Amino acid sequence: MKMIEVVDLKKHFTLNTSVLNTEITEVKAVNGVSFHIDEGETLGLVGESGSGKTTTGKLILRLLKPTDGKILFEERDINEIKDREFRKIRKDIQVIFQNPYASLDPKMTIEDILTQPLTIHKIVPPLEFKKECVRLLDMVGLSAKDAKKFPHEFSGGQRQRIGIARAIATKPKFIVCDEPVSALDISIQSQILNLMMALKKEFKLSYLFIAHGLNVIKHVSDRVAVMYLGKIVEMGAVEDIYTSPKHPYTKALMSASPIPDPDIKRERIILKDEIPSPIHIPSGCAFHTRCPSCMDICKHKTPELRTENGHSVACHLSLGTVLGDNNVNGDGSC
Ligand code: SF4
Repeated sequence: MKMIEVVDLKKHFTLNTSVLNTEITEVKAVNGVSFHIDEGETLGLVGESGSGKTTTGKLILRLLKPTDGKILFEERDINEIKDREFRKIRKDIQVIFQNPYASLDPKMTIEDILTQPLTIHKIVPPLEFKKECVRLLDMVGLSAKDAKKFPHEFSGGQRQRIGIARAIATKPKFIVCDEPVSALDISIQSQILNLMMALKKEFKLSYLFIAHGLNVIKHVSDRVAVMYLGKIVEMGAVEDIYTSPKHPYTKALMSASPIPDPDIKRERIILKDEIPSPIHIPSGCAFHTRCPSCMDICKHKTPELRTENGHSVACHLSLGTVLGDNNVNGDGSC
């Protein structure tokens, strides 16, 4: 069963770009994204800063209103649901934030932090709050004596455990994980990822796992979607993406992932320039200004996202049509 379905989702922001506010510019942060996440499934959403992945997460959490498109949670469009009713659904859709230092109120004890969602969503009767907090702390590898402490008394990894305990306090079905380990030491990252996977298994959770690198999501995702300038450029089963990436951008991201075996060397693909601003998205294939395989056609024709055997790619190289195009240089000369 589909837990979440995102259909042609768009979020365009408008900016005043002149001193006299006479020029309005559109920023296409999310520009036509579609995917689904099944019950108990993890979709890894990867891309550089500015690719639109965090905005996609915020749209799914209904922290932003989409410009266009639909977000269905258990087949209901969350933007068509009235605020009052959405509050009931809110407990099923939770979030784990990137920064465990900023996401916990420094003035609240851990017990207060965990009691908040229990109170708002009436998860257990007030008399059981203390017992429930201890149960939640135990589930994330902390102890009952931690309940009376404040966030500053914990390490980054422990704070992220508290953030996870808060997310699962409402017994959610789906969690948006917004780069949950990127602020942590490498040695702690795997502990947090293992905890998240154990909780997923125990509670049949679905995750949207947002990350900027492919290495983090490899072990936690069932499928992976790669975003570039507001669009998905490749999506498929995790084994397909890691063993046979098709899009040049995915290949470049893959080449930047460290291999934990000193005997295996991988050629690094260095992309030229930074990711362009979503204010000025390049014509044709948005990746053409950095693509090592760029052809003439890429500059003026946008490749569609096409799916074959569950593996979707938006690249003229992967689309059979390109073979008959006379404008193809194929020499990366864009
Ligand atoms: Fe590169 Fe062209 Fe494919 Fe875009 S469509 S990724 S520019 S080869």
